[in-house]
Amino acid sequence: MTDTDKNTRHQLRMARKKAIIDANIANADQEKGLLLVLTGNGKGKSSSAFGMVGRSLGHGMKVGVCQFLKSRTDTGEEAFFGKQARCEWHVLGDGFTWETQNREQDIATSERGWAVAQAMLTDASYDLVVLDELTYLLNYGYLDADQVLDTIGARPPMQHVVVTGRAASETLRDFADTVSDITDVKHAYRDGIKAQPGIDL
Ligand code: ATP
Ligand code: MG
Repeated sequence: MTDTDKNTRHQLRMARKKAIIDANIANADQEKGLLLVLTGNGKGKSSSAFGMVGRSLGHGMKVGVCQFLKSRTDTGEEAFFGKQARCEWHVLGDGFTWETQNREQDIATSERGWAVAQAMLTDASYDLVVLDELTYLLNYGYLDADQVLDTIGARPPMQHVVVTGRAASETLRDFADTVSDITDVKHAYRDGIKAQPGIDL
């Protein structure tokens, strides 16, 4: 095939592709507050959520972040986003459940944390609410899953919510508008590399 033939074929293929993309864009003309679920065993759930925090702040939107489970307050994301005027950052955990080893305490902590999230989910001034590691609280039964989904479902119509954490339930996946299941292909930790600032925290 000559170069001219190759160029003509490429041009035709791209024109067909553009027609399909343009039709899809024209079709997607609705707006609403979305529920996103970022789950799976691979790395990139919370950091993806924080990417959306950055995007939202860039648009002047107001953001609320609830970090369940975790108790560390030395992360790069908190240091950076916690300083932003339009971002409210709450670390609501007592540590990992295998650290506390106390179910009663975990439930009390979860309920206190959920009250903070609930206040955001009933306040239309928040354009984006991130519920980081929420799936664990639901899967361990620390929070009532039906009640949590009812609250998320009844939030202000234009408010976006991002839920992260491994093993999101079928019910949560069905309820969401966008679901990403991140696959663990490999992780440096298994080669003995400790958590790296900027990458892991
Ligand atoms: P990140 O915050 O980096 O996006 P994540 O939210 O997808 O990660 P978590 O389960 O919340 O994953 O774990 C947070 C920490 O554990 C991070 O330091 C991350 O690099 C690390 N981590 C995530 N997935 C894995 C994995 N599959 N194996 C080992 N460590 C992991
Ligand atoms: Mg995470």
